Formats: sequence, structure tokens, C-alpha cells
Amino acid sequence: MEVMSEASQTFIAKSKIKAADLEHRRKIRFNIGKYNDAVPKGKQQFTDVHLARERAKNVKWRAIETLDQQLEEFELNFTKRGGKVIWAENADQAIAEVLNICAAKNCKTLVKSKSMVTEEIHLNKALEAAGIDSVETDLGEYIQQLDGEPPYHIVTPAMHKNKEDVAKLFNKKLGTPINYTPEQLTLKAREVLREKYVQAEVGVTGANFIISDIGGIAVTENEGNARLSCSFPKTHIVIVGIEKMIPSVTDLGLFWPLLSTFGTGQKVTVYNTIVTGPKQANEADGPEEMYVILLDNGRTNILQNPKTRESLYCIRCGACLNACPIYKNIGGHAYGTTYSGPIGSVISPHLRGMEEFKHLSYASSLCGNCTEVCAVKINLHEILLENRKESVESGLAPFSEKMAWKIWKIASLKRGLMNMGNGNLKNKVVNGMFKVWKENRSDLHFSQKTFNEMWKDRYKK
Ligand code: SF4
Repeated sequence: MEVMSEASQTFIAKSKIKAADLEHRRKIRFNIGKYNDAVPKGKQQFTDVHLARERAKNVKWRAIETLDQQLEEFELNFTKRGGKVIWAENADQAIAEVLNICAAKNCKTLVKSKSMVTEEIHLNKALEAAGIDSVETDLGEYIQQLDGEPPYHIVTPAMHKNKEDVAKLFNKKLGTPINYTPEQLTLKAREVLREKYVQAEVGVTGANFIISDIGGIAVTENEGNARLSCSFPKTHIVIVGIEKMIPSVTDLGLFWPLLSTFGTGQKVTVYNTIVTGPKQANEADGPEEMYVILLDNGRTNILQNPKTRESLYCIRCGACLNACPIYKNIGGHAYGTTYSGPIGSVISPHLRGMEEFKHLSYASSLCGNCTEVCAVKINLHEILLENRKESVESGLAPFSEKMAWKIWKIASLKRGLMNMGNGNLKNKVVNGMFKVWKENRSDLHFSQKTFNEMWKDRYKK
């Protein structure tokens, strides 16, 4: 009897429920529909959008191939201006460093801007356990935090909620009238959050890019909350995955418009901020201390494999999620991982273990739409195949699957065997043989005659 990993069982159970949830599908279709309308307009700003994507891929290729040098160059330049760099091999180390800094600053309130890396290391949970009030300041993340849910999408955390859902949630948690409009709800969130910026001793942000030549980080956002989170509190901590590297500040001229167009359809996102260190002697504003935590947490597992390495080029625009037929049917939470959709299926088995998460490599129709839309042209569907290969080579394929493919191979290499029996018999044998595989798939249907038989019939007259 084949034993599925716990993550795989949860994935299948949740996917079955979501795939049949028509209300969920209606909301996702509506929100992705708006995205699909906006993106072609954003793309018009590029004279040649394919060339722009190709160039971005080349820049990321260079950054990742020389990542060790780029990271050291970043550290050298960033520390020159008084910033501190911390290298964290895993989530525990990153959490311990954040808690140490918070303890030293006697931090009671912390403001956080949207960051998938902090989701990945479960920062809020750790802060809460340490008695620190950690407040999400991005509106979508704030909604998710109020609801006790992780983000649903890497760019649009509350994509699965409509305005009525949010009004209900605010009514329950913040006591606002149930008929509040989106504008009124936003103003309420602003009222609550503004107060937190003033109280917070520490601000935490992620970074969309690490820039080695100037020793800085860049943050992209639409609400100004990240800018407030990194400038109001006296201490600013950045937590960022090491793969977010770009070699030069001039590369942003290419990456900023690409990220905004492929992320939301905008020509350029409303706030793009570059931070190169704490407040300097001649400056009036900014944090007194700034730390950048460079997080590995499994990324070097991807780096060491030349075939999957290009998944580190990802700029987290979310385009592949919006294009994926699987994501659109099962939604972001069914994956059970921080990163969902095609890019999540590609990287999660390497970040969190092939044995537990290899099933995500099969959560794809291999239609290639993800590769088609990727802002930096990552061959996502081919890497999914590579992951499948790796899991089989590591001996993770179950015995029944191995046997089934062995028999399939023998049969398909022998013309006589392929021509044996009619379609009905083959349907019976093959569907019986792939019982486990087709538990969540429809039956295979063979034609009554093989191609070879039909060919012979055609020319025997
Ligand atoms: S893999 Fe490509 S499309 Fe998907 S989030 Fe990353 S950059 Fe965007």
C-alpha cells in the first residue's frame, strides 16, 4: 500500500473541496479577470516586452552565477554606511536574530510590511510567542492577519475575499458597520495602523531586490506602508532571501517596470524605495539602526543544481499563479506552502523537502502557460518535470508506480503487445493498473484500434 506524505494528503483533500467550490471560483475569476485586463495595457510601455524579459533573465543569470561575490560586495558596501548584515542559514537562525534585536530594543510593538520571506519563517508566530505585537501594515496582509489566515497569493494576499467578506470581517473584529464601503474600510484600517507606526520600536520589511553595487535594498509597494515601516521606527530590520540579488542600481530601470506590469498591470508601482543604511549624520529622518538578514533556508539546495537554478531568478510578480489552471481551481491555500502556484510547486520541494512536497511537481497540467507569462522567462514547466525526475531518481516513487511504468515501457516497445486486444480490453487493463494514479483523474480511453492498425487498414486496399 502506497503511503502518501501528510502534506500530499492535505493537498489532495483541500484541492477536492476548493475545486468544487463555485463561489470561490467566481471570486478568483473576477479578480484575475481584472488583472488580465490591466496587464496588456501595462505591457504597452515596452517597445519589445520579450526583449525586456530576456534581458532581465540575463541579468538574473549573472547575479545568481556570481551570487557569492555579489553578496559579499553588498555586505561591504552596506556596512560602509553603518548597516549591519546578518547571515541566516535557516528560519530558526533568522528568527533568533530578530528576537535578539527586539529584546535589545525592548520592543513591544513591531510594524511589518508585506513580505513572503517573513511568512516563510513564520515570523509573526515567533513574535507573538515572545509577547511582541506584530502588525501587518499592507492592507491585504492586515485583512489576512485579522482573519487568522496566511496570504492567499504572493502579490494579492486577500484575492479570495470580496468586499462583502472584508466588511463582515471588519464588523466582527473592529466593530465597523456591516455596510461600510471599501473606501470607509480602508480609512478604518489606516486609522488603526497609523497609531501603530508611532508606537513601534522596530519595523520589519522584506526586499524586492538586493543591490550589490550600492549596498542597498529596494522595496516596491502601492500603499506607502513599507516606507513608513522602514523610516518611522528607530530600528529597521530587512529579511530577504539571498536570491533577490541584482548587480547594479541601474538594473532597476528594467526590473521595476517588469515587476509592476507583470504583478498588477501598472506601468510602475506607486512607491519604489531604495534604502542604503540607517540615518546618516547629515540626515534628519530614518532609523538609527538598520539590519539586513540574508536568508538561505534551502535556497542553496536550488543553487547547487544547474537544472533548477533558474527558479532563483523569480521576482515574485505572481503572473504564473494568475495564469495557472490549477491555481485558478484550487486556490492558494490548498498548496499548504508559503509559495503557491507554479513557482511554489517548483521551489517548495527544494525548500521544504522533496519527500514531503514532491507531489506539487505533479500539480500541473504541463500546459506551459506559466513559462509563457513569466516576467523573467523561467522554464517553469520544464523544471517541474526535472523535479519529478529528481524525485524518481531519489527512489521516492512508490513501488506500484514503478511497476506500472515498467509494464507500460515493455508494452509500448513491442508492436505485437500494443496491437493485442481491442480498446475495451486496454481500458480495463490500464485503468486497473494505474488505480492509484487515477484516483483523482478520469479514466484513460484507448481507441478501438492502434495507429499502426489504422495505418495498415488504410493501405491494404
Ligand atoms: S516564476 Fe516568473 S511569473 Fe512566477 S512569480 Fe516568479 S517571476 Fe513571476
